[in-house]
Amino acid sequence: MLIVPEAAIADLIDEGDAFDAVEAVFAAMAKDAARNFPVVREALGHAEALYGFKSGFDAAGGVLGLKSGGYWPGNATKGLTNHQSTMVLFDPDSGRPRALVGGNLLTALRTAAASAVSIRHLAREDARVLGIMGAGHQAAFQMRAAVRQRRFDKVLGWNRNPERLARLADTAEELGLPFEAVDPETLGARADVIITITSSFAALLEAGHVRPGTHLACMGTDTAGKQEVDPALLVRARVFTDEVAQAITLGECQHAVKAGLLAETAITPIGAVITGAADGRRAASDVTLFDGTGIGLQDLAVAARAVDRAVARGAAAEIEI
Ligand code: NAD
Repeated sequence: MLIVPEAAIADLIDEGDAFDAVEAVFAAMAKDAARNFPVVREALGHAEALYGFKSGFDAAGGVLGLKSGGYWPGNATKGLTNHQSTMVLFDPDSGRPRALVGGNLLTALRTAAASAVSIRHLAREDARVLGIMGAGHQAAFQMRAAVRQRRFDKVLGWNRNPERLARLADTAEELGLPFEAVDPETLGARADVIITITSSFAALLEAGHVRPGTHLACMGTDTAGKQEVDPALLVRARVFTDEVAQAITLGECQHAVKAGLLAETAITPIGAVITGAADGRRAASDVTLFDGTGIGLQDLAVAARAVDRAVARGAAAEIEI
């Protein structure tokens, strides 16, 4: 079995690789050539941790495996990342383990790649102002992946604790873009593309805050009960997702569906837009909303890229198992 440690990932895969891997697996899902298996997520009753598995099989890419990990809120005090994950790939022809891969950076890259894929396929070509709500660990990755998709000339940011916005300001500076801290209403009124990446349990953005033509990538809601935007926004928008089954149970769509405001059939898998089987944006005035719930196949897609690159460079350690 190959070992690709966390510390090796940054040299093996970048935003462009992650984008290609995630876009390809979303397309494979739309062609019924890749599927996710049911997610397991449990409160451990120990260390206040949430622990789980995401797994799937991409027959088109020949990738089988799982991501295991979760959230340990006490890790920060130990100098560790609260979100911890490890990926395991198996040979789909034999079931033998192929690789054990550090999954923390890969999770950030694949999450940012998903919203970037949505921007590529759904945002207006003339989108110039990027708005980001949230300034946690994922937010800088989101910004770096998003700016590759359109000629953004400004970044607006909002966070519940404004002192954390320095992370966004620094990232914008690194990307050569001016940054401005604003309130949610101003962000909604001025941004062409909005990424939400918080751990909120209540709407932060009202439907009336968002102007026609906006694309939203709602990325923070990945658990039952979490929420980032007003359900009325999902009624007003054309709604897309990575996987409909997850969107309606633990994604941003859960609230509008539960309230009877949004039908499951009104949610389009982004893969169908990528393959051309479904329309994306139809008019410059459309509000488009991507509910990025985070699926196991995204994890496996980026892990497989990293392993292939490590093998090609002779950088993967091998052990007998
Ligand atoms: P983090 O803990 O580093 O940051 C959390 C962010 O949410 C901070 O900006 C914080 O200020 C904000 N926040 C927390 N509680 C809030 C509240 N009640 N109202 C408004 N803002 C609040 O987390 P992270 O690693 O940056 O992840 C952000 C969110 O994205 C998490 O909820 C995480 O579960 C989710 N996530 C989703 C995916 C996916 O694929 N969809 C992948 C990774 C993480």
